[in-house]
Amino acid sequence: MVYKGLIEKYRKFLPVNDTTPVISLYEGNTPLIKAKNFSLKIGINGEIYFKFEGMNPTGSFKDRGMTMAVSKAVEVGSKVIICASTGNTSASAAAYAARAGIKCVVLIPDGKVALGKLSQAVMHRAEVLEISGNFDDALNLAKELSGKYPITLVNSVNPYRIDGQKTAAYEICESLGEAPDYQFMPVGNAGNITAYWKGYKDYNKAEPSKYALPKMMGFQASGAAPIVEGHSIVKPETIATAIRIGNPASWKTAIEARSESNGVIDKVTDGEILEAYRIVAATEGIFCEPASASSVAGLIKYVKLGYFKNNKLGKAVCILTGHGLKDPDTAVYDNVVKPKKVKANMKDIIKGIIDVIEF
Ligand SMILES: *Cc1c(COP(=O)(O)O)cnc(C)c1O
Repeated sequence: MVYKGLIEKYRKFLPVNDTTPVISLYEGNTPLIKAKNFSLKIGINGEIYFKFEGMNPTGSFKDRGMTMAVSKAVEVGSKVIICASTGNTSASAAAYAARAGIKCVVLIPDGKVALGKLSQAVMHRAEVLEISGNFDDALNLAKELSGKYPITLVNSVNPYRIDGQKTAAYEICESLGEAPDYQFMPVGNAGNITAYWKGYKDYNKAEPSKYALPKMMGFQASGAAPIVEGHSIVKPETIATAIRIGNPASWKTAIEARSESNGVIDKVTDGEILEAYRIVAATEGIFCEPASASSVAGLIKYVKLGYFKNNKLGKAVCILTGHGLKDPDTAVYDNVVKPKKVKANMKDIIKGIIDVIEF
């Protein structure tokens, strides 16, 4: 059957009916990529997979939630949607609003939104307002506006977002033919960890003998780790801007996912995040954004800690939540070497690549 997006594929698990107008960009169905080089590099005995959510239509997993949230908004006649966003939610909301022919308002925190994400919101003609405050301020304002005016809030406090996002867990179960032993993922506003846990529980309930429950391993950035610290963070700071959140909306359900699954929610430093970001790109050819790499940084941290008995991991999936092209500045300026400048002749070019070729 031709793939037509996750609502069509997973209808029976989602709160839609025959009259729901499906607003889709054929999101979902993203690759689960086995990471052999990476496993060798970090020296672990087990199967590691990357779920590359950067392959969604707007380049992040937010599209899974947005197809549901916008379809349901249109179903009830909404003409305007609003979101607070560190970038990817706005890119996705703007695209799905354009697809639906409705308006989109975006509140972004001052500074710190990656260039690629902003360019998407602008291209899809969202009304973008940069507020003098952080993400948490933006979310509070968006909630207030949607309470007072006929505007639908499409942040992950909108339950349809969680419904759409849980389908990624279904896809993983189907690809592996079972659930993984561990799932590693970034935690920001904590909607996604809530969604995955819900998804794994759905499959477990439907076929308990086939689909066990994985341990949920969530990672915040150390400068923005409210759940780990046990209190909200007034000025969250991290290079991983997509998880620069000080007071997660889905805090409680994230804790439940961790506790019910016997997993952990821990933190990784910006240094660890950047290292993981580089290793994934260099060993597997997969370019994810910095926030996504916190899942991999978490896995590396737990391997080093000796968390896995006899260094045996079983099957582990790291969620790569967004595409690296979203944030090219981090890749080019803060991180890797700049391109070497050489004269346009054979001799100088050979000199430039002498380290990587053998004659
Ligand atoms: C939104 C986002 C996250 C965080 O997801 P939450 O549901 O807020 O925890 C992580 N990575 C990327 C790339 C994102 O866009």
